[in-house]
Amino acid sequence: MQVTLVNYTPNPELTIVATARSSASQLTMEELWHKLNSQQISDLLKQLLDSGHLSTFEHASFTFNIQGISRVTSHQLVRHRLASYTQQSQRYVTLKDHRYVTPPTIAKQAGLRTQYQQAIENAHQLYFQMLEAGIPMEDARYIMPQAIETQMVMTMNARELLHACSLRLCLRAQWEIMELFEIIKTEIEKVAPYLGAELKPKCYQLGYCDERESCGIFPTIKPTVKTK
Ligand SMILES: Cc1cc2nc3c(=O)[nH]c(=O)nc-3n(C[C@H](O)[C@H](O)[C@H](O)COP(=O)(O)OP(=O)(O)OC[C@H]3O[C@@H](n4cnc5c(N)ncnc54)[C@H](O)[C@@H]3O)c2cc1C
Repeated sequence: MQVTLVNYTPNPELTIVATARSSASQLTMEELWHKLNSQQISDLLKQLLDSGHLSTFEHASFTFNIQGISRVTSHQLVRHRLASYTQQSQRYVTLKDHRYVTPPTIAKQAGLRTQYQQAIENAHQLYFQMLEAGIPMEDARYIMPQAIETQMVMTMNARELLHACSLRLCLRAQWEIMELFEIIKTEIEKVAPYLGAELKPKCYQLGYCDERESCGIFPTIKPTVKTK
């Protein structure tokens, strides 16, 4: 897969913290913009996360070009509703490439891998046979498997990125969408290192694992709250 951060709110972290500060200051966001130094930005970002003042993170958005993910993963991705998506259309663009994703579990079993490749090849051949017979692209595509690659553009704000990463960077998430969000995190770290460092699986915030089985980073048992 190829994931590129194509565009983003300039100075995303400063945008978030100057906005947050303006809510409790005589100064405007614009005035605060010129006053905050790097240490203050980092400290304030952490404070906002700790206090749950998360709406301020909505002021910074990131636009990614995403290529070479399966339709399985694009479907999982668009379940994150608080983002904008534009996906390449299968009604208007012919599926002429043989590009598809092979999960590692299948790739490492030679016999099954061959059958898997053959099944996709067969579907692809029938797809073109149908196009030649005059079936419209929008109907011929029904034969194609979920493994085929797709490309899309996604714009997500920092608040939703924190949320989506909390779910998709969890080791219990599926490998392909986890890989996608690992790259997204890396891309964010290049332009917003403090924010990027906060893109973590949910257990880091919870302090425990809420999945049925823990990967080992945190125990599954919710810590008991001590009362007097
Ligand atoms: C490991 C894993 C397994 C999954 N398995 C399945 C499955 O088997 N079947 C399945 O259907 N889905 C499954 N999902 C998808 C999951 O149910 C969510 O649809 C997906 O993770 C999107 O997250 P979200 O709903 O928290 O929020 P997003 O859409 O990312 O929205 C962010 C937050 O905004 C708020 N919000 C958004 N929309 C609304 C709304 N309409 N009303 C109120 N609050 C809202 C919520 O607080 C939400 O958490 C799975 C997800 C994961 C991570």
